[in-house]
Amino acid sequence: MPLHADLHRHLGGAIVPRIFWRFLHRTGHPLASLYPVYEEFEMFITRPRASLSEFLELHSMVEQVQGIENLPYFVKKLVRGAFVFEGILYLELRHTPYYRTDARLSERDRIHQMREVVKVIAQAAHLPEFPLRLRQILCMHSRLPEHINRAILDLAHDEPDTVCGIDLAGPDTLYGERLQEHIAMFRYAKESGLKTTCHLYETPNGVYPELLPFVDRIGHGIYIPLKAPELLSQIADRGQCLEVCPTSYLKTGTLQSLDTLKLLFQRCEEAGVDVVICTDNPGLHDVRLPFEYENLLSLDIIDFKQLRRCQDAAFRHAFAWPHARPPDSILHTLTEPEPSLY
Ligand SMILES: [Zn+2]
Repeated sequence: MPLHADLHRHLGGAIVPRIFWRFLHRTGHPLASLYPVYEEFEMFITRPRASLSEFLELHSMVEQVQGIENLPYFVKKLVRGAFVFEGILYLELRHTPYYRTDARLSERDRIHQMREVVKVIAQAAHLPEFPLRLRQILCMHSRLPEHINRAILDLAHDEPDTVCGIDLAGPDTLYGERLQEHIAMFRYAKESGLKTTCHLYETPNGVYPELLPFVDRIGHGIYIPLKAPELLSQIADRGQCLEVCPTSYLKTGTLQSLDTLKLLFQRCEEAGVDVVICTDNPGLHDVRLPFEYENLLSLDIIDFKQLRRCQDAAFRHAFAWPHARPPDSILHTLTEPEPSLY
């Protein structure tokens, strides 16, 4: 039964390796010849990387395969998998639309084609037999020039039925040199009524307190409770939450062990800051949402009460979920004992 919400998942990281590998072989993609055996491909995709920047190279590879013409195939597969295997009821799927456009077109035409990308994803995600609610978060990117990021913001604004918010992604080592520009972007987004999240405090390089006042949620933010806990009271006052994606930190070399997250959950709880557990890249990691939960429980990083609070918080902080705690009512209805049995 679908019960969960995932607020931080990248389209480029959402396809499990086997579906991706089969697609490469079926379509005769050049990458297929590099990996004739599935197991070697899976090992290549899921092995930990030394840094976030190195990990993001994987996304670039996936983006080349997931061009606009192939998006319906991948989106349908990921919606089906999220509904059936992960029990996901609400999903915010993020991507940088410019990187899904046809690279052979001029920049102007690629900007124009971004709208089609958003529409294609929305149409492909509408599967009556797997009725999860999917909304898109459009990612500005730290490698893209200002005018393209601005066009992404304008597109988000124009598509309120399918796009629920905006983000800034890409290597966080690049944020600093254009910080004022990014602040202006987020200010503009907030003023035009968009919901905002931003990859921040994910690594020791991503420490930009100047951006914090302009986001509704914080993408990762783990270095706030771990290294700058004095900021937590402001985060609580603003009602922001942290989108924590545990497996990512192992795959990007950000943390050596998930045990470190125990302190994060403790400090956030004490400060009244909500934590939402997300997947980031369940396909590239080969770890789906229920296993993120289970890992944290079995490693004794959180208990079941904390898990429940995180799961409730996911619906509360969702950008486009109409109710506060829908699973409760569903659960109570379904678990009501049959009077005739007693
Ligand atoms: Zn992310």
